[in-house]
Amino acid sequence: IKKIGVLTSGGDAPGMNAAIRGVVRTALSNDLEIFGINDGYLGLFKDKIFKLNRFSVSDVINKGGTFLGSARFSPFKIYNNRQIAIKNMKKRDINALIVIGGDGSYIGAQKLTEMGFACISIPGTIDNDVVGTDYSIGYFTALETIVKCIDKLRDTSSSHQRISIVEIMGRQCGDLTLAAAIAGGCEFIVLPEVNYDKKELLKEIKKGINKGKKHAIVAITEYICNVTELAKYIEKETQRETRATILGHIQRGGSPVVYDRILASRMGAYSVELLLKGYKSRCIGIKNEKLVHYDIKFALKNLKKNFKSDWLKTAKTLF
Ligand code: ADP
Repeated sequence: IKKIGVLTSGGDAPGMNAAIRGVVRTALSNDLEIFGINDGYLGLFKDKIFKLNRFSVSDVINKGGTFLGSARFSPFKIYNNRQIAIKNMKKRDINALIVIGGDGSYIGAQKLTEMGFACISIPGTIDNDVVGTDYSIGYFTALETIVKCIDKLRDTSSSHQRISIVEIMGRQCGDLTLAAAIAGGCEFIVLPEVNYDKKELLKEIKKGINKGKKHAIVAITEYICNVTELAKYIEKETQRETRATILGHIQRGGSPVVYDRILASRMGAYSVELLLKGYKSRCIGIKNEKLVHYDIKFALKNLKKNFKSDWLKTAKTLF
């Protein structure tokens, strides 16, 4: 391997820049040429590929987002489009690709490896929903952002004796919600991993009110229900002012926290080291603070995210 490409794909996450930097600097230290691709698989298809040098990644370690740009490009599911993408890399003699993204991006990388193109995937998403890793790049930064928002909501909810419902990102993974709820002292938690019943939630909230709670914060993961409707229902049933706050894309921004910068730097470097060792189809993770790698096909098929039921149990005893 002499020339490699790097791209960021899917939802952006703070720390992606630090990961790109890790890839670029490690590649250059090992006398490899390194190419950046704009806008994920879209840029690969559209041939937006350009050479990077060590200064391309100066002053990016502390910046949120991704300077390469990211995109969602569903036509990448079509074989012929992936063939064009591979051709675009091969005409520059690029013969390996590092993909930084979430589980959707992992599938894209797996498809490329099935077509004979070497790929290493790095977990970059705030959702922490990627298999084969305890944490993905961006998760801890998003968590800080969310908890800061919850703290602010607490101030005003408490002043007005209001019930606040906070909708948190995570798709089908409740890790962000659960951790933020513990750190933010939320009274009620609704997660995708646990059956949701709005009547049960109402019962719990009423129990809280009867105990003398003046206000409450409900942390809920996105896509479980319409939180504005839920707020109306709870307000009607409890006669307490209830408001929903959808944190939205605020959660994706900001300068990465220290842990994300270190994780991203280590994973970026590790991805290049794996290529140098001859690996062609791996995804990277961190397990008990050690970097690990798995065959991507095996990981996507067999590995599952563990639900932290012990965390939920603790959270519930703290209400
Ligand atoms: P994330 O990587 O954050 O989970 P997405 O699920 O949107 O984000 O996936 C990112 C991109 O990965 C998609 O826009 C598409 O280009 C590519 N991708 C996802 N699924 C597939 C698939 N089955 N085949 C090929 N490419 C895919």
